[in-house]
Amino acid sequence: MMNDDKRQALARYVAELFAPEDEVLRELAEEIAESDMPEIYISPEEGRLLQVLLRMVKAARVLELGTLGGYSAIWMARALPEEGRLITVEKVPERAELARRHVERADLADRIEVRVGEARELLVDLAGEAPFDAVFIDADKKGYPEYLEWCIENVRSGGLVIADNAFKNGEVLEDSDDPGVRGIQEFNRRVATDPRFTSIVVPTRDGVAIALIN
Ligand code: MG
Repeated sequence: MMNDDKRQALARYVAELFAPEDEVLRELAEEIAESDMPEIYISPEEGRLLQVLLRMVKAARVLELGTLGGYSAIWMARALPEEGRLITVEKVPERAELARRHVERADLADRIEVRVGEARELLVDLAGEAPFDAVFIDADKKGYPEYLEWCIENVRSGGLVIADNAFKNGEVLEDSDDPGVRGIQEFNRRVATDPRFTSIVVPTRDGVAIALIN
């Protein structure tokens, strides 16, 4: 059995070898850490994982629910082809503004569009822009099952539904009344058991669920 120190050292090894951050990503991560924003952005190795997955399904049209500061959006957009497009949805206007600033700095303004509003409201119109090749869900955890339903209708066959925080800080193991925990539990159960998906959770920092639509 490996101890925690060893695991952390191995995670660092993978991050440094496979997922070095450039200046734009490093500064954005620092700005998020210094702000009063919750530090809920993905890790560099998760960013790289998203890139590998998007390339595997040749994704060109991607939707993200939950922009935060744009950290994951920048990782994903860099894996898209020239004509690719990523729409990312953020509820909090200040976060959307921060994201736009860094998207600009990363020279990705033509590839990333940040939309402000509640995901569940914006999804109504976004259905008109379907099909998407992949959706990355990282918004309110309570909404995960509902977002998954939308994805079944609006992601092409052979496309991906990816979700962050599949472990919900370990709370996914508990019997909980918390709507967020229940949302994640329900999401995991559905992608694991519904025959329309081939799915797994990769045990990263907080678990990334990956569901291929058959
Ligand atoms: Mg997250």
